[in-house]
Amino acid sequence: MAMFQGKSALVLGGSRGIGAAIVRRLAAEGAGVTFTYAGSKEAAERLAGETGARAVMTDSADRDAVIARVRDSGPLDVLVVNAGVVVFGDPLEMDPDAVDRLIRINIAAPYHASVEAARRMPEGGRIIVIGSVNGDRVSFPGVSAYAMSKSALQGMARGLARDFGPRGITVNVVQPGPIDTDMNPADGPFKDLVYPAMAFKRHGRPEDVAGMVAWLAGPEAGFVTGAMHTIDGGFGA
Ligand code: NDP
Repeated sequence: MAMFQGKSALVLGGSRGIGAAIVRRLAAEGAGVTFTYAGSKEAAERLAGETGARAVMTDSADRDAVIARVRDSGPLDVLVVNAGVVVFGDPLEMDPDAVDRLIRINIAAPYHASVEAARRMPEGGRIIVIGSVNGDRVSFPGVSAYAMSKSALQGMARGLARDFGPRGITVNVVQPGPIDTDMNPADGPFKDLVYPAMAFKRHGRPEDVAGMVAWLAGPEAGFVTGAMHTIDGGFGA
């Protein structure tokens, strides 16, 4: 039987890139998947048609909309918070509104979504948040706000793992290194910054991350919680 048959999953930010690979993987393994998108309606509808998942518009920058979406998605077996944005550049020049928006999407939404999901999550529930290796290591300038947001997820997961442990719910962070997506294309500018530090001088694939998420969401990972799971081609080695 497919691993997630009869399970319900919500992926926040599932229309493209890593999120879309997670939607494909969970749906292929039998889960009933709902995923959100903000700007990419066409891509979301295409993915929904391809996988049978349900696509719904929810801006992760809007706290109340995120909470309502999680609540309205019913009791969830699996919550994956993937939606994330990056602002890149000199912090002295950066638009403070862009930084605040990043904080809402990358930190506030994962927190509120996780808490709302846990209200009705059954024992065995899984909360998985997509962080970044930049939560551990920042090897070049220009990503301080992004790195701050990904480090915040570490404290959140450690704390919520203890809060929800008595109810049998696990909380984990997956920390990718460079993954070939619109955010960080394999032929884009980041490769020159990060390849020198990597054991494998290449980008990973969204499917690599989806595989780790599927394992964390599955029955073999029931004793894994409050932990960071790095998948980075040796960037942090
Ligand atoms: P992409 O930019 O390729 O895709 C981002 C996804 O998040 C899209 O589906 C997008 O939906 C959604 N999203 C963004 N903002 C919002 C929002 N306000 N509300 C709802 N959905 C939103 O990024 P990646 O796939 O590369 O990244 C996914 C996650 O992985 C992020 O958290 C990122 O920080 C993290 N990550 C990525 C790495 C990489 O190298 N690619 C490395 C380390 C971490 P839409 O287009 O519909 O708005």
